[in-house]
Amino acid sequence: MTGKVWLVGAGPGDPGLMTVKGLNCLREAQAVVFDRLVNPELLREAPAGCEFHDVGKEANCHPIPQPQINQILIDCARRGLRVVRLKGGDPFVFGRGSEEAQALRACGIACEVVPGITSAIGGLAAAGIPVTHRDFASSFHVVTGHLQDGKAPQDWSKLAALPGTLIILMGMSQIREICAALMEAGKPADTPAAVVMRASTPAQQVLTASLSRLADESEAAGFRAPALIAIGAVVSLREILAFS
Ligand code: SAH
Repeated sequence: MTGKVWLVGAGPGDPGLMTVKGLNCLREAQAVVFDRLVNPELLREAPAGCEFHDVGKEANCHPIPQPQINQILIDCARRGLRVVRLKGGDPFVFGRGSEEAQALRACGIACEVVPGITSAIGGLAAAGIPVTHRDFASSFHVVTGHLQDGKAPQDWSKLAALPGTLIILMGMSQIREICAALMEAGKPADTPAAVVMRASTPAQQVLTASLSRLADESEAAGFRAPALIAIGAVVSLREILAFS
């Protein structure tokens, strides 16, 4: 009989931030297919005899192509296994979880999604940055700084005009261009901004600066992926809300 795949969100990094449902799936898994952003401590929750597929590895610096990852999921399910596809944060926030679900459905393989805490919200919370606050932001906008090859870049001028908190994932390689484009489009240079690297893990590092200083300071401090960029007045709350 064909198996089933659970697309499970592992949360932003702290293993305690996975859902109970996700953990129960992991404890019954016969195969786990995991990414680089998943905390390796969680893998210990899988039962003895479970097989592991690390698809976060970069062979010769090339990430494993998505069709190959889809095929691993399909093959494991066709072998009749209970498969947990463990993904960082929430499976449907970037990271191609929805494409994997489509590929499974197209093959008639049962698939269930177990949401997770996205780094866009939970990762910022771990740094004492709330995405909304009645006095500072009544919306938040989560965008990617990195688009598929051949796609038009984000329209930063439209994003600059939004009053809510701007949260950029996968933006570190473009941080300088992103900040410059936002300021060019009228976002004030003194808008509070932050970079949160390896959020909610013991290696978490946080840097706050004005939008105009963010790229220089984050480069000088050696900040790199995985990191979140947050831009907006809520960043100033970190001073009183950062508990760790
Ligand atoms: N599905 C994930 C996002 C995948 S895209 C989620 O919901 O969180 C990968 C990007 O997420 C990274 O480049 C980084 O911008 C962000 N990210 C994920 N985990 C992170 C962490 N612990 N700290 C900082 N950024 C993180």
